[in-house]
Amino acid sequence: MRPNTDLKYSTLRKITTVQDIWEKTLRHIRKHVTAENYSTYFRPLTYEGIENNVCRISVDDDFFGDWIRDHYSELLATSIESVTGSKTSINITTKRRQPSRPTRQETSNPIRRAIKRNNKKTVVNAPTFQSNPNYCFDNFIIGPSNELAHAAFMASANQPGLNYNPLFVYGSTGLGKTHLLFALGKSIQEQNPDARIVYVSAEDFTNQVISHIRNKKMDEFRERYRTNCDVLLIDDVHVLGGKERTQEEFFHTFNTLHQQGKQIVLTSDRTPDELSGFEARLRSRFQWGLICDIQPPALETRVAILETKALERHIQLPHDVAFCIAENVNDNIRQLEGALVRLLAYATLKKEALTKTLVHRVLGGTFQQNTQAPSVESIIEVVAKQYGIDINDITGKRRLRKFAHPRSLAMYLCRKYTQASFPMIGENFGGKDHSTVVAACKKVEKAYREDHNLAQELKTLEGKLPKFGR
Ligand code: ADP
Ligand code: MG
Repeated sequence: MRPNTDLKYSTLRKITTVQDIWEKTLRHIRKHVTAENYSTYFRPLTYEGIENNVCRISVDDDFFGDWIRDHYSELLATSIESVTGSKTSINITTKRRQPSRPTRQETSNPIRRAIKRNNKKTVVNAPTFQSNPNYCFDNFIIGPSNELAHAAFMASANQPGLNYNPLFVYGSTGLGKTHLLFALGKSIQEQNPDARIVYVSAEDFTNQVISHIRNKKMDEFRERYRTNCDVLLIDDVHVLGGKERTQEEFFHTFNTLHQQGKQIVLTSDRTPDELSGFEARLRSRFQWGLICDIQPPALETRVAILETKALERHIQLPHDVAFCIAENVNDNIRQLEGALVRLLAYATLKKEALTKTLVHRVLGGTFQQNTQAPSVESIIEVVAKQYGIDINDITGKRRLRKFAHPRSLAMYLCRKYTQASFPMIGENFGGKDHSTVVAACKKVEKAYREDHNLAQELKTLEGKLPKFGR
């Protein structure tokens, strides 16, 4: 019995000694760092033992391991030395994981949050995000073409790294991708002033890779994008196509950040699948999170954008004027804004009222290039001309058949050939209720199938509409 007890006792003692070393080491460390740093960095370490003057410590992920290695190796070594009395080197091992979607637990880990906080305080090469007052969620007009992207960006702003990572938005130029990126950055900054947000266009990213390689300062580059970054906003990522070295750097940046649950947001002019000159591994990473598109805005959204942008300049844009511009500039919000700015400048300088006539005078030239389909106005014009009546008779209220009939046909053609909704059409026909337009359209729709003459009448009109007449 006795020897057995001795064995147990000696084993126990050995364990106690091993634990003692670590406990004493921690007590030593505690005197040299703040309470916050102690619980953030040292409490979670696992002490594995000492062999041949090498102290083995394990941590559960790369990021954490790197951080300890870079910042606290020396403190760890001297602390252990002070306990054991012999010179000891430190070996920090991590369980290297494949980059994967971070789980809720990973990203909500208080240690990570503390690291994010502390990074800001301790590292000099920290980025500062310059928000743009023109680009925020408040002044982003939502419509069916962009509502998914908007919702995803809002969700990421409220819980960076948790919802969709990466968030990938694509769409053609001038549809609000950069606007959303800045809005996201601004919102995160407001909610979490310590978050380190990096906005960079893919072109600048490329230039920085080149200059840092040339100046042999890649460490600095990596520190900026991998260590000192909580939210990475990369604009126009499609320009990385064919740039292998930059893609390589970006790939590692992506992995490092993603693994830590840091939010990555990318914009592009096409889907990940369509990106040419991209390594498959990068394209596949873009698909890990949420991919959403932004489409050209519908007519109603374009009108709302114009009215809002005018109001931002303290100008009340008459609805028919907004409609007239929106109808003619139909696929790009940047162009829409450009048209509005030109119109407002002209009206202010020449002290002219904002009317549809002015719109045509000032913007008419640009309209022709943009017009791809007949507009409500052009339909009304064509129908009036064909029936030898005045435009006001078409848009007016007189119920005589010679006016009411062409009016119904014009409404029907507007519905068929423009994006205008029933209320919008009603608006353009002298402010009629949408139910009047619906009734007129239904009547024509039903009648022309049975009435050969009516079908012929419509065919003739259709042939005269701008798109078909050319
Ligand atoms: P992209 O990056 O897709 O080329 P931008 O974000 O630069 O487009 O947008 C072009 C212009 O249109 C900007 O001035 C932006 O503020 C404006 N814009 C785009 N979408 C909207 C929207 N939904 N609401 C308000 N303004 C918008
Ligand atoms: Mg852009």
